[in-house]
Amino acid sequence: NREIHLASRPQGWPTADNFRLVQTEVPTPGPGQIVVRNQFMSVDPYMRGRMNDVRSYVPPFALDAPLDGGAVGEVVASEADGIKPGDTVLHGLGWREYALLDAKAARKVDPSVAPVSAYLGVLGMTGLTAYAGLLDVAGMKPGETVFVSGAAGAVGSMVGQIAKLSGAGRVVGSAGSAAKVERLAALGFDAAFNYHDGPVRDQLKAAAPDGVDVYFDNVGGEHLEAAISAMRLHGRAAICGMIAQYNSTEPPAAPRNLALLIGKRLTLRGFLVGDHGHLRKQFVADMAGWLRDGSISYDETVVEGIENAPEAFLGVLRGDNLGKMLVRL
Ligand code: NDP
Repeated sequence: NREIHLASRPQGWPTADNFRLVQTEVPTPGPGQIVVRNQFMSVDPYMRGRMNDVRSYVPPFALDAPLDGGAVGEVVASEADGIKPGDTVLHGLGWREYALLDAKAARKVDPSVAPVSAYLGVLGMTGLTAYAGLLDVAGMKPGETVFVSGAAGAVGSMVGQIAKLSGAGRVVGSAGSAAKVERLAALGFDAAFNYHDGPVRDQLKAAAPDGVDVYFDNVGGEHLEAAISAMRLHGRAAICGMIAQYNSTEPPAAPRNLALLIGKRLTLRGFLVGDHGHLRKQFVADMAGWLRDGSISYDETVVEGIENAPEAFLGVLRGDNLGKMLVRL
């Protein structure tokens, strides 16, 4: 069994030296436990925050111990009722080839409904984040104009498509390359731009000349400032992530225009997907239907091998991924 440990805490951008590949024995289950051979693990931007030794909504990763995070795999040994070898389960002990866990901490998934990787993305955490943030937190209504940043990523690509399927009048996305912008057009976005091509404020104004009702923020900083400027009366923003500042060592320079919240009566609302579990059933039913009838497409970027998991993590921070970033173990 190989696993990735946190060797040191990154200052600014992480480097390969912050991680260590460690060889251990394949574990054996005790009473109530299972052993899972992980097939896919998720790498997520939020993991960067857990590498800092600061108090947050999730505890920091420990030094010289395996990292963790979403994973899906096949049960190879079980001492628990209700789960048997051969079952496929979703759980929270990624970053290792074999995971030992209490059966209670694993959820069985059906590999005949979708490829197992989908339970980490489109049918899993990032899909639910998009669904809950757009429809519940921001309360998008039919006819409204939606802007989403990080639009070609796992969450953002779902936000745009769910918005269209829920009757949005106009959906605009921003992403970091021409190829990603092209992909957004194919996914049904009405307009998209590459934020490297010029100021976000100008490009957003051109893409949404009548303003924005709902902003789904994955990025923060200049994007958030531009969205606040573009928002119409009673606009709402679902504040999901601020990836533009996850590696910064300085406080952000933007947004500088928060006074606009007053006159425009704007709502900026942060949220965590973990608080929206009550929507999971509805989300899975809707998403499974959209996947079945082909009205939603999803992309995955798959990196091979546990030894490349740190590089995959750096990749998701750099923007190497189209759609959900995964490691196949
Ligand atoms: P993505 O698949 O969107 O990957 C991250 C993307 O961020 C990259 O592909 C890159 O794309 C973009 N990016 C990186 N740096 C910058 C930058 N400086 N400015 C603009 N874009 C940048 O990841 P996820 O879909 O998993 O997550 C998206 C966001 O949602 C993150 O901020 C994450 O922390 C947050 N999140 C929040 C949750 C919650 O419960 N609140 C749950 C899940 C995710 P590009 O090439 O376009 O730059």
